[in-house]
Amino acid sequence: MTAVLSNGALPTPVATPPPTGTAKSLLKTRKQPAPPYLPNRHDYRPTHRDLFQIEFGPEGEEFGSCLRAEKAYKQGDVLCAIRGTLPGTKAYSSVQVLPDPPLPSSSRAAESRPASFTDAATPGADSTAPRRHIELNSDLLYVNHSCDPNVVFDVNGREAEEGEEDASGQWAGRWKVRAEKDIAKGEILTFAYFSTEWDMDQPFHCLCKTARCLGTIQGAKHIDQGVLDGYFINDHILAMKNLEREQAQQE
Ligand SMILES: [Zn+2]
Repeated sequence: MTAVLSNGALPTPVATPPPTGTAKSLLKTRKQPAPPYLPNRHDYRPTHRDLFQIEFGPEGEEFGSCLRAEKAYKQGDVLCAIRGTLPGTKAYSSVQVLPDPPLPSSSRAAESRPASFTDAATPGADSTAPRRHIELNSDLLYVNHSCDPNVVFDVNGREAEEGEEDASGQWAGRWKVRAEKDIAKGEILTFAYFSTEWDMDQPFHCLCKTARCLGTIQGAKHIDQGVLDGYFINDHILAMKNLEREQAQQE
């Protein structure tokens, strides 16, 4: 998921997808398709009732929308599996789940990585090609960016299938949202967009105002490994970082 505007005109401290109203015209001028899931305040029904809920920004300022916890969570708690997603293309609303471009299968960075990480996985670019970006297709779309986030989007492993359940609630090996800190009921949920995004479609100037703020957020490609080391970063991003180092050494 990436920020909405690159002009620094965000009225809120964090980047949020534009749900309705004026946002539509923005989408139009930006030639961005609307995400498949785009609730509005008038007939909103939470996708994860009792877990978290969208708080819509003031009318006409939908960039101010956010997602608030409906209950308290402890650090390490899994809030939910990330499931029911749709294939996406890189956009302000998408989340990257695999290296893009894929790793050359001949590279060292590809060693002991899943085949889906490599170019070997996309020979014909047909419908069986793995999805490199997804649309969340749920209220999770409203989790804003922060450089000091309270949740992580863990897209290592695979998406839980329809009907798949996990009695432990841990969703091992499945995509999930996990608390990075203790979270109080009512708190705004945030994650670090560069933990999933390599090179963002729409960079933005972060106004999270936390001590860890990195300023302009353009994706992990633009952030030193030493800084990334202080965060939960998904494997597909770490693999791309490894490839970048490998290529730099060859030059
Ligand atoms: Zn920040």
